Amino acid sequence: MQEKTFAPWDDPEARPLIEFKGVTKQYGEVVAIDNQSVDIFEREFFALLGPSGCGKTTMMRLLGGFEEITAGQILIDGQDMAGIPPNRRPVNMMFQSYALFPHLSVEQNIAFGLKRENLAKSVISDRVSEMLRLVQLQRFASRKPDQLSGGQRQRVALARALAKSPKLLLLDEPLGALDRKLREETQFELMDIQEKTGTTFVIVTHDQEEAMTVASRVAVMDEGRIIQVATPDVIYEAPNTRYVADFIGDVNLVEGHAASDGIDTPLGRFAASHSKIANGAECALALRPEKLSIALKKPTKVDNTVAGKVIDIAYLGNITTYHVEVGGQILKAQVTNASRKVRSGITWEDNVWLSWTKTAGVVLTA
Ligand code: ATP
Repeated sequence: MQEKTFAPWDDPEARPLIEFKGVTKQYGEVVAIDNQSVDIFEREFFALLGPSGCGKTTMMRLLGGFEEITAGQILIDGQDMAGIPPNRRPVNMMFQSYALFPHLSVEQNIAFGLKRENLAKSVISDRVSEMLRLVQLQRFASRKPDQLSGGQRQRVALARALAKSPKLLLLDEPLGALDRKLREETQFELMDIQEKTGTTFVIVTHDQEEAMTVASRVAVMDEGRIIQVATPDVIYEAPNTRYVADFIGDVNLVEGHAASDGIDTPLGRFAASHSKIANGAECALALRPEKLSIALKKPTKVDNTVAGKVIDIAYLGNITTYHVEVGGQILKAQVTNASRKVRSGITWEDNVWLSWTKTAGVVLTA
């Protein structure tokens, strides 16, 4: 995890490591990246997140020098990357299928890039030991890749990519081949290694949980454009559009029109904080399911209440999600099951009340 104080993006004096300036990439008629600008700072763990085809791999390939930009500029450390081939950039890339050399041992795989630099044997062996320690594979140094688990192979690939101390490491769906549990464990290892080495990581993923777990900041993309760049908590709590609210986590979107101090919707007028939205403007109230309370009796002293009927209950062990029909729309309310014994007493077909505070939701115009 990043320390709280690490926020170079908020510091107007901080100089970015990577600058995308009005970058466009076209493949014939297809506009894969549409005039995008973004700054990424040293030591960041930056995630490019979005659905298939949104352009995240293209962003990464442009950065690595595997594709040429159609218009705009990419700077790394203040230097224009135009015409600079991948091997002359201070960048290393770990590909989706982190192909290790099958006939080489773990050690030899990690040493591969260093040997090509004609470094002294002792320098190489020290560096390889250091990398083995970093990814905790000392005991596996002489094994071949096919004698390793998927997670271990992934760590070898990471060690190999970091051996030459690149300023910037690009990771394309690095954990895609791992099962869920191992994936979660490896996410923490990745964060740990990133912090220890101080390398800037840019990761491409379509897995929102992964992006939210590992990243210092997340860029949410759609159709060649970055829709929002922010820290994971801001992306979750203050999404800037319906698209981002809907893409990250679960959300109830209630369409309506702005009113003073709230929003008018077909389900009623709700108190909600918003600024600068003109009365009557089309907008939506985005409410996370865990911010809604559900009860059989109408609660008092709460800003917003609405009556509905339970039509579905999804019990997930740690949480229960109630699907409640309200005026022809389904709203989801999520309750944490903190105790084994306490039951809410709410079941299918029950008439219930949903309630939430004025600050629970976000009013979105885009
Ligand atoms: P995925 O998660 O499926 O890998 P992505 O977000 O990484 O998707 P990109 O690979 O960056 O998406 O592709 C962005 C767009 O550019 C897509 O519409 C894709 O079809 C198009 N595209 C990518 N590479 C090429 C190419 N070499 N020629 C033509 N079109 C391409």
